[in-house]
Amino acid sequence: MPHKHLLILGGTGEAAELARRAYQVFGTDLKITVSYAGVTGHQPDLPCVVRVGGFGGEDGLAHFIEHEKIDLLIDATHPFAHQISLHAFKAAEKCKCQALIYNRPAWNAEKSDQWIMVKSLQGAVQKVQDLGLKCFLTIGIKELAAFETVKNVPLVVRLINEPDHPLKLENYELVLSRPPYDLAQERTLLEEHHIEVIVSKNSGGAQTFAKIEAARHKRIPVIMIERPVLQDLAVLENLDEVLDWIKGQLVAPLFTPEPLVN
Ligand code: NAP
Repeated sequence: MPHKHLLILGGTGEAAELARRAYQVFGTDLKITVSYAGVTGHQPDLPCVVRVGGFGGEDGLAHFIEHEKIDLLIDATHPFAHQISLHAFKAAEKCKCQALIYNRPAWNAEKSDQWIMVKSLQGAVQKVQDLGLKCFLTIGIKELAAFETVKNVPLVVRLINEPDHPLKLENYELVLSRPPYDLAQERTLLEEHHIEVIVSKNSGGAQTFAKIEAARHKRIPVIMIERPVLQDLAVLENLDEVLDWIKGQLVAPLFTPEPLVN
């Protein structure tokens, strides 16, 4: 049976796990390619083809899909990587490629949590300015530029890698470390830096949840940025369901045979 080609858009632990499980379950029935943006310079070892770097927008991705004869596309990028998800949806539609989004579930607030929900990064910037409290920012380097307008508020910024240039923030301390984090570590960090409020994306998942738990224990408010929504693609949050979807696509015929003419 000719195999189908699955493209996984990666950059998350979920994408890597999906690639490993799909390889175990489908073996040579499925060719798998995982794509990384190449932002962190760190890609896991995977039992499949790995490519690194942007495609060159929606058209570049559509060209890749056609050139590599991609049949199935799973967008398993971070829930806040909205640009690539938009490109994935449009390119898949253009190339008539079956596609879905595989996202980890969002975090939910408990009764004792003091979450201040905002719909956008700009909303978070405004809240930080209005509150004027010492703020822990764990949102990634790309989004920090939005906080350059914040005045008279001390910021503690956590990044994975040392930035190439000093950040253009008025008043900040830098903390460098790579997830995952545990509760004890996060409590210590909040105490040592006298953090009064946290800004977080609602990323979901276990790797960075400890800061939310630490805030809960210490009764520190969290300005929580809600996820961007992509209305037009199906979203699955469970790996087994994603594998079932792939299985369903593998048994579907590769082409619709023409009816025989007598
Ligand atoms: P983004 O804004 O949605 O995408 C920006 C550009 O990066 C895209 O237009 C695309 O370039 C390229 N790109 C992104 N993901 C790619 C992939 N898997 N393979 C090939 N090219 C990709 O994304 P982002 O927020 O900068 O995130 C970049 C990567 O980091 C993502 O893969 C994401 O999963 C991961 N990540 C993001 C966050 C976050 O908070 N945003 C957190 C953890 C990990 P072209 O237009 O040239 O194709």
